[in-house]
Amino acid sequence: MQLTVLGTATPYPLPGKPCSGYLLQGSGLRGSGSQQPGATAAPSTSIWIDAGTGTLAELQRFTRLEDLDAIWISHRHADHTADLLVAYYALRHSSLRPAAKIRVIGPEALADRLAEFLGPDAVRGLHEVFAFTEMSGWGETVVGGLELAWGPVAHGVPAFALTVSDGSSAITYSGDTAPCTSLVEMAEESATLLCEVGYSRQALGDEAVHHTPEDAARTAAAAGVETIILTHLADDLDPADAVRRVHDAFAGAIILAEPGHAFVV
Ligand SMILES: [Zn+2]
Ligand SMILES: [Zn+2]
Repeated sequence: MQLTVLGTATPYPLPGKPCSGYLLQGSGLRGSGSQQPGATAAPSTSIWIDAGTGTLAELQRFTRLEDLDAIWISHRHADHTADLLVAYYALRHSSLRPAAKIRVIGPEALADRLAEFLGPDAVRGLHEVFAFTEMSGWGETVVGGLELAWGPVAHGVPAFALTVSDGSSAITYSGDTAPCTSLVEMAEESATLLCEVGYSRQALGDEAVHHTPEDAARTAAAAGVETIILTHLADDLDPADAVRRVHDAFAGAIILAEPGHAFVV
């Protein structure tokens, strides 16, 4: 699979740096007939993971919106969902003519939340361009050649982490979350963990809802991943400092996510 970083910023976008968003593409083994000599590879599957502010524009550097196989949304915070509003405009009010509804896998009542902004007339329109699959608790599905599995994480609102497998390798994305056992369990299946680092330091007084660099190192080490990709860094966290602090407690490879970077995972 190939992971392309569309944006990493939080809680607001910066020039050249959209909020959270990723494009994951892969063919997978399912249905490819890869065991048979001479078989051709399955068509590539493309999934837009989190639609943070500014990521729709970046997405189009790599694929057409209407060619997406699915959109997966970790939780309803605006830095992960805002560009769904303009994706709806693109699919509903432009010359784009998608062949079918685009599947949107997200937390419960996501369509209703979008319609609260777009207006009551949009409820029907949203369901005409998107096919919503609501996540609650643990779940899994297949999109093209890729297998998706998600589980609830600790972010103070309904939020999910995601593991995607192509049958030979897997990557886990934390979404937004404090350290939690469900994220470790999911990442145990993967060689790569794409992990948020939304805290520069521990939250004092409040219940934690993000990872510090030390938390990210501990989560990666507990799950036994080979590589951690750091993303969604707190705006007061120096990137080089974040890498150094993760390095102190995690012996594997450490990569800093930057918009436009692509990794084979
Ligand atoms: Zn959040
Ligand atoms: Zn966030």
